[in-house]
Amino acid sequence: MASRLSLLVSCPRGCGQILKKELRRLKCVTLETTTSSVLVEGDQETIAQINLWSRVANRVGVVVVDQEMTDYDALFDAVRAVDRSQYVGQDRGVTVYAHSRSSTLQSDRTTQSIVHKAVIQSLVGGDGHRNIDDGKIRQTVSVSILQNRVQVVVDASGDALYQRGYRLDTGDAPIKENVAAAILLSLGWSWRQPLLDPTCGSGTFLIEAAMMAINRAPGLDRLFQCEKWPCRSVDMTAKRNDAKEKLFAGKEYIFKGSDRDMKMIAYAKANAERAGVADVISWETKPLADWSSRDGMVVSNPPYGLRLDQDDVAVVHEDLIYLLEKEGVRGGFITSHDVGKMDLTKWKYEKWRNGGEEVILRKRK
Ligand code: SAH
Repeated sequence: MASRLSLLVSCPRGCGQILKKELRRLKCVTLETTTSSVLVEGDQETIAQINLWSRVANRVGVVVVDQEMTDYDALFDAVRAVDRSQYVGQDRGVTVYAHSRSSTLQSDRTTQSIVHKAVIQSLVGGDGHRNIDDGKIRQTVSVSILQNRVQVVVDASGDALYQRGYRLDTGDAPIKENVAAAILLSLGWSWRQPLLDPTCGSGTFLIEAAMMAINRAPGLDRLFQCEKWPCRSVDMTAKRNDAKEKLFAGKEYIFKGSDRDMKMIAYAKANAERAGVADVISWETKPLADWSSRDGMVVSNPPYGLRLDQDDVAVVHEDLIYLLEKEGVRGGFITSHDVGKMDLTKWKYEKWRNGGEEVILRKRK
């Protein structure tokens, strides 16, 4: 494999700048940033670093084709020319995803089947009729076409990176792990600050915060697609051992989570245990209105959505805004509930997405 690779790191829409900052902290060379991705130059070490340490990314992959194209023959030839045997062993199946916007090559189904055929030909030679789709271990290849720029990306993560492995117990509407981490970074939270989530549900915000505070690599307890590549060159066991040595110990934290639902607190505790941060967070069954926190930061993902009683939802939002308006409290909350009637002059807002839904991050200035 060529030593310098072009890597596409994707993230939840709206988090591109936060991801870029994070990747720079991880010593990556960033080239281009959009609202939902960052293009990075690197090598297999860089892939390992991002897989193991990025808290904001959805996934990372190798860009094997990146050029303007307007006909399917050119697409076929470009993909056919890639030496896929580096990424796909003979026993593997390949799944192709395609998405096109504002481009001449507009049929996702045609793109998908052309790329699939080209991948198989580049792998086994000949007419491309050999069926390698029966392999149990699959390699994902995604094709995105935007204004005729075609990017073909070989996935290096496997399961999305927000699937850290700790969150087995959840309620109806958990926030994605990487969205929670990105919100904390966007609020400017630092591990020295006390943190309260008064509607903590399964505990995602606090667990992500605690993992940042003790410097626990988010990918420590899972495997990545690149570990299955024939061309793999990074010793991930050594990387994981190295990450374990970087854990901070002996610091004092004030991380508190509460929820009015006792069952959610039990879930949060079990998740924190699995994430290795149980001893730095305290949990309590308690309604939001009972809090009168005066220092540190408050972060919340209150209940919202049409299935719920809207009067109830309005009261929770009022209580939350009241808590955050108190002197000395910083922070914010993410919601799609319309809080327009309340006085929000001391607040900023940003449009985000969580689980495919438009939401607003409201931040106390
Ligand atoms: N971020 C959480 C999900 C929060 S869902 C996660 O990732 O799992 C909203 C939570 O608010 C639910 O768990 C619900 O029980 C809790 N809740 C609703 N009204 C509340 C109130 N008045 N006081 C405290 N918690 C409340």
